Amino acid sequence: MLKDQDRIFTNLYGMHERTLAGAQKRGHWDGTADLIGKGRDWIIQTMKDSGLRGRGGAGFPTGLKWSFMPKESDGRPSYLVINADESEPGTCKDREIMRHDPHTLIEGALIASFAMQAHTCYIYLRGEYIREREALQAAIDEAYDKGFLGRNAAGSGWDFDVFLHHGAGAYICGEETALLESLEGKKGMPRMKPPFPAGAGLYGCPTTVNNVESIAVVPTILRRGAEWFAGFGRPNNAGTKLFAVSGHVNTPCVVEEAMSISFEELIDKHCGGIRGGWDNLLAVIPGGSSVPCVRGEKMKDAIMDFDYLRGELGSGLGTAAVIVMDKQTDIIKAIWRLSKFYKHESCGQCTPCREGTGWMMRVMDRLVRGEAEIEEIDMLWDVTKQVEGHTICALGDAAAWPIQGLIRNFREEIEDRIKAQKSGRLGAMAAE
Ligand code: NAD
Ligand code: SF4
Repeated sequence: MLKDQDRIFTNLYGMHERTLAGAQKRGHWDGTADLIGKGRDWIIQTMKDSGLRGRGGAGFPTGLKWSFMPKESDGRPSYLVINADESEPGTCKDREIMRHDPHTLIEGALIASFAMQAHTCYIYLRGEYIREREALQAAIDEAYDKGFLGRNAAGSGWDFDVFLHHGAGAYICGEETALLESLEGKKGMPRMKPPFPAGAGLYGCPTTVNNVESIAVVPTILRRGAEWFAGFGRPNNAGTKLFAVSGHVNTPCVVEEAMSISFEELIDKHCGGIRGGWDNLLAVIPGGSSVPCVRGEKMKDAIMDFDYLRGELGSGLGTAAVIVMDKQTDIIKAIWRLSKFYKHESCGQCTPCREGTGWMMRVMDRLVRGEAEIEEIDMLWDVTKQVEGHTICALGDAAAWPIQGLIRNFREEIEDRIKAQKSGRLGAMAAE
């Protein structure tokens, strides 16, 4: 278990003051100008050496992403955009940072922006995050009053402004290019990539889009050193990480742990175990709703990191939003609910996603009630394959993967339900 002194987020549960004075007492805003004084190359190299992989879900190496930003300006300004549009079902980790530890994020924004030669940072906030906006804005105002933002921010010699932008509650605006469109005042629809934002991002200018947690850990990594951070977890899966555990555990929570902690330790040490005991575990979605579910018996010994969950279990760490389902769960219905979500959130711009999400949801709807033919399971699988990898953004994959996980892991249960329905053993099961 991670020791208290190794935690980056020291106020996750709001037990201490979230004000600037409180943050300073906990070690934030300490020597910020000195860190910036070490220069852009040192900051980026330290981030690369730390092994930090983006905490928004995709796990792209953060230092590498920063290094794509132009070294010399061609006349266009550079921007840092912080993606606080946390909307992945099950995911509620960034929310805790913004509510209780907002200064870690603002200090990180200053240092990261300097490293990328950006004088302006936008924080794009999920529409439903009202309290988080209030907490963040209060922290930004305090930082301006104290001279930590604005001209010569924190005495660093770097002029730096932060603006909060409140979204309107569309899941798709968490996709980085849809987010940029929305920030520009347009309808939030993903752009084709490439070009990646570092080449042409906000207003066509060099832009880095980073997740809240990725930026909030930066000051501590720089203060304690790349080696310290890289010392947690396994190679290629470094650092500490926020896990948001929900569902059928005794005490759901958001907790910072070392990457690569075992699933069993995470659940037993922090969540009071599985409701009804380990034998009652049916399935787990280990990384937010966009990754495939895994059967419970395969999860007990699982290592919670990018490479194990993808390589060994065909799932993923994603946002580390761990959704636990016990044997009282109707797993087919649970995945149907996700299908409904993705159909609703599709922006409709590309055909496989616009049409495919509807098709998949409608077949899932019948599978919930057992009112389908066995052959339709394979047809549904084929539809997911037609959607996966054939769309502009990752929402298409995200809609396909949970269904693939269901078919891969729970095919027998789906077939049993169809057979039960045909033999009249199944009562009418309405999907809401
Ligand atoms: P992605 O792999 O396309 O990109 C990840 C990041 O790396 C992006 O910033 C992208 O610009 C950059 N990148 C990737 N390849 C690059 C290259 N060749 N050159 C330069 N930059 C490159 O993934 P994505 O579509 O941004 O994100 C998908 C993930 O988002 C999913 O895995 C899901 O877990 C997650 N997600 C998270 C939330 C949330 O609430 N946090 C919501 C929805 C989805
Ligand atoms: Fe829109 Fe779906 Fe295409 Fe993404 S995959 S651009 S959400 S239609």
